[in-house]
Amino acid sequence: MEKEATISGFYEMLEARGVTRRDFMKLCGAIAAAAGVSQLTIPQVAEAVESLIGNAKGNLYPVIWIEAASCTGCTESFAQVDTPDAATVVLEMISLNYSETLSAGAGFSLEEAKEQTIKECAGKYILVYEGAVLEGWEGQALRVADTPGTETLIEAAENAFAVVALGSCAVNGGWMAAYPNPSQACGVQQYLKKAGIDKPVINIPGCPANPEWLTTVLAQVILMEQVPALNDENKPALMFSQTVHDNCERRGHFENGEFVYEFGSEEEALGYCLYPVGCRGPQTKSNCGIVRWNRRRSWCVESGAPCIGCCEANPSNSGQNWVEVNTPFFKRHRDLRIGDFVFQPGTVALTLTGLVAAALVIHGFGMKISGRMDGGADFEKVRKWDEKHPDRAIGHYDVVVEKVPEDSEDQETKAEETEGGKA
Ligand code: SF4
Ligand code: SF4
Repeated sequence: MEKEATISGFYEMLEARGVTRRDFMKLCGAIAAAAGVSQLTIPQVAEAVESLIGNAKGNLYPVIWIEAASCTGCTESFAQVDTPDAATVVLEMISLNYSETLSAGAGFSLEEAKEQTIKECAGKYILVYEGAVLEGWEGQALRVADTPGTETLIEAAENAFAVVALGSCAVNGGWMAAYPNPSQACGVQQYLKKAGIDKPVINIPGCPANPEWLTTVLAQVILMEQVPALNDENKPALMFSQTVHDNCERRGHFENGEFVYEFGSEEEALGYCLYPVGCRGPQTKSNCGIVRWNRRRSWCVESGAPCIGCCEANPSNSGQNWVEVNTPFFKRHRDLRIGDFVFQPGTVALTLTGLVAAALVIHGFGMKISGRMDGGADFEKVRKWDEKHPDRAIGHYDVVVEKVPEDSEDQETKAEETEGGKA
């Protein structure tokens, strides 16, 4: 009876926020998918969310959200929900104890709230870290509340249940780490590894990160008390294992060779593939075309912009940030990367052509100098062995080979020996 009341209260709460039961079930489907469990378990996921929110009252899952070197774009992306949607349901499951941007409090009282959470909820809170870690000037490149940003990260990460690196800057430094990177920006995973802190880091790239990725990960960690299945870059496998290109609605045009070569052209109006004007969809692993943006209204390619690969971020290498890898954005992708160097295929082709041309010129000079070009050099017209063994010769010669008796070699040798003897 009590449970029914809780559930009906939960749906009333959803209704009051303009969230349909259908939207809510879709969110539960996304959570189930992220957890790698069967879609048949969606009702159980829904029940878990209902009971958690219904019963939690004052006992919500603590979250610390630290803003490091960033533009606050990921916070904006998460908080831009102007009318409630299914994602806001997840917010009901957390207690955002600390956020420089979103918390109502400020100053020392807010710092105290963070310290209290780290102490009292050790091992039971999630750390969301937005923005790059700045190592420059011994960590002094970023100071908050009179403390180097690197120290704050270590303290908060050491005691967390899991760390979420939110946005490409937190994953590997993002545009903060673009050359020449004077503040030595890097990603959370890279920094924690260097500092010897062994804590699961869930990397959610994007510039900014899609709020649905975060809500799904948070919901899974809170409900299932487990980190979602991650790929080899510690990114949630079900969100970041396929390329943007795999799920793009313009893919048919790509296969048909129908491309946009110029913005404002007829091909663009026809919605052809944007690859020649810089689309990084084939190189970027992310499910943007499925999850979409702004409450699933649209996404980059659908709205006419080539994907600029903002989810490309190698957490082990801040030099491979999406800006370094993908600029200039509206040019065809520079596909080739060798070590720290990136080459455009056209540049490589031109270089190789130049090298081959140079080799031919040098060879020509060599031929000229050795006199071979003037027809002065002797060439072996017929291999000597073939000449001596015409019945066993391989290949054809224009020169008519006279049959030489098989034992002629012995006779010649004997003759030479006899002559030598006489001498
Ligand atoms: S627009 Fe981009 S992602 Fe879509 S098919 Fe073309 S190359 Fe692939
Ligand atoms: S489609 Fe490309 S540019 Fe757009 S959000 Fe996804 S990864 Fe970033």
